[in-house]
Amino acid sequence: MAKRVAVITGGAGFIGSHLCERLVMEGFKIICLDNLSTGKIENIQSLLKNRGFQFIKYDVTKSIKIKGKIDYVLHFASPASPKDYLRLPIQTLKVGSLGTYNTLGLAKEKRAKFLLASTSEVYGDPLVHPQSEEYWGNVNPIGLRGVYDEAKRFSEAMTMAYHRVHKIDTKIARIFNTYGEKMRLDDGRVIPNFISQALSHRPLTVYGKGNQTRSFCYISDLIEGIFRLILSNINEPINLGNPVEYKILELAELIIKLTQSKSRIIFKELPVDDPSRRKPDIKTAKRLLKWQPKIMLQEGLIKTINWFKKEIKNDRRSKIC
Ligand code: UDP
Repeated sequence: MAKRVAVITGGAGFIGSHLCERLVMEGFKIICLDNLSTGKIENIQSLLKNRGFQFIKYDVTKSIKIKGKIDYVLHFASPASPKDYLRLPIQTLKVGSLGTYNTLGLAKEKRAKFLLASTSEVYGDPLVHPQSEEYWGNVNPIGLRGVYDEAKRFSEAMTMAYHRVHKIDTKIARIFNTYGEKMRLDDGRVIPNFISQALSHRPLTVYGKGNQTRSFCYISDLIEGIFRLILSNINEPINLGNPVEYKILELAELIIKLTQSKSRIIFKELPVDDPSRRKPDIKTAKRLLKWQPKIMLQEGLIKTINWFKKEIKNDRRSKIC
């Protein structure tokens, strides 16, 4: 049987690279497109020698031409951490709009299935808790975070339009906070920030009073959910995330404990439009995908901390050489 071919945009990023690994393992041929603006070639280093894996450095806001059959187009390209999208506001809007348009165009040309990596940010600073897929969100379109939120809201609208008009088999994964190996230590998100601060015994920077909440999903759980969604015949948006909710202050204390760090906690100004609560309602994923996360926060954090320790060691070694 001919191999199933999947194009993954943003395939050198945190989630994209884990997905590349999983699909290669499942016997897919992968064409990975990434302009490396926030992704890293190191994330896919081990795949580069694999004959079923091809990397093309490419900016998907430009039109995409690829020869041969393609069965799946999986659109993961985008800056995704607040630090990155605040630094790259126009690129974020372009990859969410033009990038989604181009990848949907590719799916249409090849009659491929399409999956959009969307986000819990489409709910903005939610007035409904927990957030279910029926909730339409509370987003400030002109606020600083609007560049990411509105780009993803536009990309969801575009995806549904291609589904309705061109009958493309599209899927939308609304991904909640995810963490694990291959996150950039400097991507500014709360878990890499706290781990790198704790490992170097610097103060952990809690924004605001730390009463805001998030629910953290370990990467292998998320990839399992995405894999099931890719193979499903579902077209409506699906929340994928871990529904166990933590205060940011609790997270800081847990990371200090797990790293046995001497760090203290300091409080810094809360960023503008920072959502005060976030927790996915995953009843749709449970019902339709028979999926729910298995890895609890403490277990996932231990794996992530161990990985970051190695990364920091390798980084130091490469600087000495
Ligand atoms: N945060 C924090 N200290 C940090 C980084 C983040 O207190 O060093 C907070 C941030 O204000 C937010 C939460 O942690 O309330 C999660 O932030 P992150 O950037 O990881 O992702 P978000 O869920 O906001 O997209």
